[in-house]
Order: sequence, then structure tokens, then C-alpha cells
Amino acid sequence: MDPPQFKSVKAPGNKESFRELMTLFPPEVAKENKAGIQKICYKCEKNVEDLKKCGRCKAIWYCSVECQRADWRNHKQVCNSTGSENFVRLQRLSQNFMANAPLIFYIQQYCALAFNLTAAGGCHPERARRIIVDIGIEPVEITTFLKLPLPDEVANVPRPIRGMLQVTAITKHPESQAIPEDRMVLWRNSRNGAVAAGSGNHPIILVEYRLRENLSTITTTMPIPPPILEIVRERKPFECVSAFRGKFEKPMTENNVIELLNMLIRQDKRGQFKLQVDLNESDIDIIRNFAMADENSPGERRRLLEKTKREDIYVVRLSNHVL
Ligand SMILES: [Zn+2]
Ligand SMILES: [Zn+2]
Repeated sequence: MDPPQFKSVKAPGNKESFRELMTLFPPEVAKENKAGIQKICYKCEKNVEDLKKCGRCKAIWYCSVECQRADWRNHKQVCNSTGSENFVRLQRLSQNFMANAPLIFYIQQYCALAFNLTAAGGCHPERARRIIVDIGIEPVEITTFLKLPLPDEVANVPRPIRGMLQVTAITKHPESQAIPEDRMVLWRNSRNGAVAAGSGNHPIILVEYRLRENLSTITTTMPIPPPILEIVRERKPFECVSAFRGKFEKPMTENNVIELLNMLIRQDKRGQFKLQVDLNESDIDIIRNFAMADENSPGERRRLLEKTKREDIYVVRLSNHVL
């Protein structure tokens, strides 16, 4: 992917700055960037060239008939159900996400911050690093989002509910812990390719997308080119515009990067990123339950709560309604 051609970033807080950002990264570039997402066997997690899809749901794939047979007892419970529907969505959404340079740009900044790549001697391109990106599907309309946790209102919201991808959390794989070997195979391939192409000084991150805890993940590799490191080294605050506060600045932190990334997706009213999809009942359940979530709640609900805390707009609005 070509490095972005600018030095500082405006938060996508209004139509003008969204348009400006989209001019820097036109949709044609997104098409070119449609990177091949690496698929791994659902059972043994091996990455092989020739994976075969489950013939029934066509949602997941195996390296061999042996792996498919061995997994059938498990898989038959979700085959052709919401589980496999969700996995198909994960594939499509993560591919579309990867294809959009402005979004990847934020993920790259996140990695540079989280792994301290700009510290003196901190870059270490020969070192493998991994993040897990938890994604969720939330209503495009914020008023709908606010209604879903309310028992009296949820039934009256007209279906289907238009939703979009949002990043609920990014987790950094602790650098002191070994990365699973099947992921390391992907990383080494990518690293060898980068060295051969003369960009061996770019750190490469394993990025793993996850839609639900009980679903397989989709893994890809992402280089961090020098211009990104330059932007993060400068640590210029993001310029933001809000209807409530007017113009203000936000420091470049890991949390703020995720927040701005979500804001950018929310700004995409015409669906140019191709990250919009209808909510299914399992998405609605997660949102319905999140008002009761605390730090002991199951992953998806808890992460949604953390996200709403991070993005103060929801906290302000929701505190009047639910919390
Ligand atoms: Zn296998
Ligand atoms: Zn199946």
C-alpha cells in the first residue's frame, strides 16, 4: 500500500474534513488496495493455498477433508445459521475495511503508538507483532442505537436496521508472549516479501479481525511505512469539530485513534467504504444487553460498553436514557 501523502490529520468531524480525506484517498485507490486477506483452516488454523469451503454454508474453509470431518461435530451446530452468516459478514467486512487506506492509516498509527515504534531504537522490523481488532455492527443512525437497549422501544424500531462496522476494541498481543506458529508463517512470508522488495526496514504487524468470540478470525499482515512513523513521532493533536464544542484538539493516543476511526466510518453517509450491512438479531441482542454490562460481562458486551465510554457522545446521550 502506498504511504499517505500528508503529514497531519484532521479528525473527520464534519462534512468538509471527510471530503478532504476522501480526496486524499480516492475510491479507485481502495480498489487497488483490495489486499488478499489470508485465510486459514478453520480446524487446524494452517494457512495453505488451496482451502475448500464447507459445501453447505460456504462460510468457512478447511485445508483437507480430514479437518472438515474432525470439525463437523462442532461446525454442524452453526452451519447454515447465524454463526455462518456472521462469518461471511466478517470476511466481506474485513476485506472492505482493509481496502480503505484512510481506515488502515488509523490502524497503522495505532500500532506505531501501541508498540512504541517511534522510540529511539524501538522500530525493530525483524520483530513480529500482532493485534486483534474486535469489530461490531451498530446502527448507522445514532437515535436507533439509543433506542435498542430500551425494552419499550426496541420492538418499535422498524426492521431491517441499517448498520455499519465499528471497531469496539483493539488488543495488543503482549510482546513477551509467543505468537501462534500458524500466524508466524504468515508474518515470515510477508517479511520475506518486504525484504525482497527493499522495504525490510518497515515493521510488519499481524492484524487479526474478530466479529464474535466464538467465530474464527481473519488474519492479514500490514506494514508500517516510514511516513506513518513520522506522523506518530510528531504526535500532533487531532483537530476535531463537534456540534457541541466547536473546534477542539485531541491528543494522539491509542484510544483517540480508535475513536476517530469509528467517527470516520460514521461520517460515511453514502457507504463509500462499503462497511454498511443490515443488523441481524445477534447484533441487536448485543446492543440490547450492553446497558447492563460491566467489567465482568462477556466480551462483546463489555467491549461495546468500553467503546461507548471512550466515545463521550454516547456517554452523554446514554446517561440520560439508560445508564
Ligand atoms: Zn486443517
Ligand atoms: Zn458449513
